[in-house]
Order: sequence, then structure tokens, then C-alpha cells
Amino acid sequence: MKIKRLVVGVLSENCYVFTIDNECIVIDPGSEPERIETYIQDKKLVGILITHHHSDHIGALKELLNNHPDVKENVVNSDKFQYEIIENPGHTKDSVSYYFKNEKIMFTGDFIFKGAIGRTDLGGSDESMIKSLKMISEYPDDITIYPGHGFESTLGSEKESFHFYY
Ligand SMILES: [Zn+2]
Repeated sequence: MKIKRLVVGVLSENCYVFTIDNECIVIDPGSEPERIETYIQDKKLVGILITHHHSDHIGALKELLNNHPDVKENVVNSDKFQYEIIENPGHTKDSVSYYFKNEKIMFTGDFIFKGAIGRTDLGGSDESMIKSLKMISEYPDDITIYPGHGFESTLGSEKESFHFYY
């Protein structure tokens, strides 16, 4: 497996391409569709996953869907990718993370970053963020998290600072 991070757009959003064998999924195609297409051109795109609908995370979504008529938003047409959708409102009402248990990785969007958590003043709420932080703390420490901005981390190291928020 391979996870490629493409930093796209003026808000430096992380668009991830997760590849297993020659199949790939794109997580949060925020901008620069041509760059994403160039990276995936020798792979089979089997799905696009969106963590939440802020414009910096979906700016290239329409174009990718147009270019790949077989692909639908939040559907993965391959059994190579086994994942759980975790609802974690707080940054926005619709925020989710995608947890790939076999690979021990989680795409967290703007829910959890390395050394920070997402803002709650852009359509979310503090109350639901706190609930989501408590809920995600039940997941294993050794999960590598891939956030929507900045660098990757582990859930265990981020958990240590969650208590500052509640
Ligand atoms: Zn956001």
C-alpha cells in the first residue's frame, strides 16, 4: 500500500491518494484536479471519500467525478479497501473519519491534526467536538492519522492533549 499526500489549493489542503496494488482511492480532492489526475493516471480510481464539505476539501470533486463516470462520491468499488466510517461532528456537522483497520490508518479531515484539533466556528460546535474527541479516544493508540492539513501523527500522541479541550 502507498499513501501519497498532495498539498493542494491556497489553504494547503491535504488530498490523499491511497493505493493498494494498482487500485486507488482519493480522499478530499480539495483543488488542482489536473495534479491529482496526473498522479493517478497509471492507477485505477475506485472511489472518492470526503471527510466534510468545506470548499477546500471538495474543490476538485466535481471535475474528478466528471472525468471518471464509474466513480461515485463516498462509494468504493473494490474489496481491497475495508474501512469504517466514523461520524465525528464538531468541526462541521457532517465531519467523518475513515478508519482502515487492517492498515491501522485513519483519515481525519479537519477533526484532528498533528498537535491541534479542528475549529468549531465554521459550522460545528464545541459540544459535539468534545463528544467526538471522547469517542475517538476509544480507538487504538497505534493508528496513524492523516489529517486534512499538516503532517501525519498517531492517535495515541494526539489523545494526550485532548483533555485540554474538556
Ligand atoms: Zn474544514
